[in-house]
Amino acid sequence: MCDDLGPLLRAHMSRRGALRAAGTAGVAAAAVGLGVAGTSGAAQAAGAPGAARPDTSGSRHRTRVVLLGTAGGPVLTDGARMGISTAIVYEDRVYLVDLGFGSQMRIAAAGLGSGSPSGVLDNVRGIFLTHMHSDHWAEWPALYPTVPSNGTGLSEPIRVFGPGDRDTLPPVSPPGRPEPPVVTPERPIPGISETTDRLRDTFAADLNERARASLFRLPDELFVVQDIDISSLWHVDPPGIPPRLDAPIPVWTDGDVRITATLVDHRPTAPSFAFRFDTPDGSVVVSGDTRVSQNLIDLASGADYLVHECVDAAYIDEVVSVFPPDQREFMRMTLLQGHTTIEQVGRDVAEPAGVKNLVLTHLVPTDPGPEHWLPAGEGYSGRLIVGEDLMQLGVGSRRR
Ligand SMILES: [Zn+2]
Ligand SMILES: [Zn+2]
Repeated sequence: MCDDLGPLLRAHMSRRGALRAAGTAGVAAAAVGLGVAGTSGAAQAAGAPGAARPDTSGSRHRTRVVLLGTAGGPVLTDGARMGISTAIVYEDRVYLVDLGFGSQMRIAAAGLGSGSPSGVLDNVRGIFLTHMHSDHWAEWPALYPTVPSNGTGLSEPIRVFGPGDRDTLPPVSPPGRPEPPVVTPERPIPGISETTDRLRDTFAADLNERARASLFRLPDELFVVQDIDISSLWHVDPPGIPPRLDAPIPVWTDGDVRITATLVDHRPTAPSFAFRFDTPDGSVVVSGDTRVSQNLIDLASGADYLVHECVDAAYIDEVVSVFPPDQREFMRMTLLQGHTTIEQVGRDVAEPAGVKNLVLTHLVPTDPGPEHWLPAGEGYSGRLIVGEDLMQLGVGSRRR
């Protein structure tokens, strides 16, 4: 979830603390009572966030999913869950979907570098940003100027893909509220290319000084940044509700790894993408932020893994309870309209898509243990995995 819940959460923190002790016991009992179909014992035993040993059983597979960060939203955590980021690894090639807070450190911790002291990013081939909410790319401004120091062994530039500019602003909510000021009104919702150009200017002092004082390579040499072209599919309108697509959007084919995308429904934030990675060993789909989306169900059809966001609607009820009664339903709708709940993700997304494994990530709230999320398996016949930072999941049977 990307909505700015920070002030609300701070206001609500004391009440939540009081509720937590009672709630944990109740939810655990509910999960047991449901007898969740398809939930793996391994997932249930994965441990609470911050457990010393996440499941890394897939670490020797040729294709694997590595969860770098599983926290939802821009709310700061105690570090057990970092900001949202997922790596798909094929052989030694690393493809990153989103770059939430702390994800660079997780790349190092997961052992995805080359082993060189200045090679944490040497194996990164591509970066794929689902949308322009800060919790999905806050690490990009940190990675951009430091890749010359942490990717000294890069043999080719890193390809970066993300949304293009949006030239329509979403409506002001609730209706009738005065218009807030618009930041950079001449280009108010820049995409990844324009944003990166602005970063280049912002870091001019660092880049120019280092380039003249050493053999430091400028980021221009190390990245190829590209807006995903949807001009033939959709001119994003204020509501931001995407059209149904007939086919996936081709993004990039890197040898035997093929990357495609679709438009998901994170209204009013648009465009928002989900990505699919097909390797010779299988397929992985990463949802980005979305409500239940038929485009995503189509993209994920038959996939080995669907890595999907998940929000607890009961938690949202708790959060909005601080508002006057006549505003609660509006705030609830605002916070839930672009996301997928525990009750929906297995039954309404993973099951109709026929995915073999559903991996929950971008969890809101961030603090409950895995048992809290087990009801997501109700109505889903595949395997449910509650994501945890640094978890590594193997795709297919081929090992390195
Ligand atoms: Zn989000
Ligand atoms: Zn978002």
